[in-house]
Amino acid sequence: MNEECARIKNALEQAYDVPFEVNGSIQDGDPLFEIAPENDSQELFRLSVTFKNATRVIINFIPEKYSAPLIKDMSEAPQEKKRLFAQYAGILIKERFAQIDFVINGIKCNPCVFEDWPVEWRDFSCRITRSPVAGDDEEFKLADLTIDWGGIALGMFLSLMNVVPTTTDAPELVTGHTEGKSYQVVSTRYERSLLNRKFCIALKGYTCAICGFDFCSFYGDVGEGFIEVHHIEPVSLMDIEKTINPETDLIPVCSNCHSILHRRTPPYSPEDIISLISGR
Ligand SMILES: [Zn+2]
Ligand SMILES: [Zn+2]
Repeated sequence: MNEECARIKNALEQAYDVPFEVNGSIQDGDPLFEIAPENDSQELFRLSVTFKNATRVIINFIPEKYSAPLIKDMSEAPQEKKRLFAQYAGILIKERFAQIDFVINGIKCNPCVFEDWPVEWRDFSCRITRSPVAGDDEEFKLADLTIDWGGIALGMFLSLMNVVPTTTDAPELVTGHTEGKSYQVVSTRYERSLLNRKFCIALKGYTCAICGFDFCSFYGDVGEGFIEVHHIEPVSLMDIEKTINPETDLIPVCSNCHSILHRRTPPYSPEDIISLISGR
């Protein structure tokens, strides 16, 4: 269990650049993993991932003791962040056939239609279920399932939150609870577009969208989880946070194809390079 926790922690930290605490236990005979941002016992939220009878994955977003400012902030998140959340929910429902019980102020809402969510959130809960999940996989890898499902769920919730860098010049930002910002989800390497990039990968996978190269199958474990993300529209022409739609504007590409795309300014279109290499 400890080894699995360490693997989950590694994979999620690599994916989101947020330090997590991961605990594993057995509850009613089923394995349960709990994931929480590691931040000075702020007790904001935790995500529990459990596998009922090894066939059904259940993920719960559990608000903790000091979650009130977090939930307030989530409700006040700009449209762009809410759209990203809705897109993540869409993946889980449409691509992964999950069921999402998304409840705000005791009212069940559609997680994909953020325009209909209540304006003010007093409380919030979310439960994601999917069964069967293991299918006929020979080896039922619990940690992998947690990384996969818990990872997408985490991306979904993090997309509504304020994620701030730990390496900041303002020390009061790290200690938190100062004026204006009453909570922190800290990141070791903050990137404005990080969640957009993670969303792109969650949706489109780790295979190069141009040549089909897969780092993991070529390099083995060392290449696992590696891919670059290309903005189809040149970044310099866009306001990253405001206008990127990861579903249509970003693609996963291998390092070679990425370099070739950028051999021209503005970059070649993915189709240009695909037609260049097709028929080889
Ligand atoms: Zn490629
Ligand atoms: Zn690029």
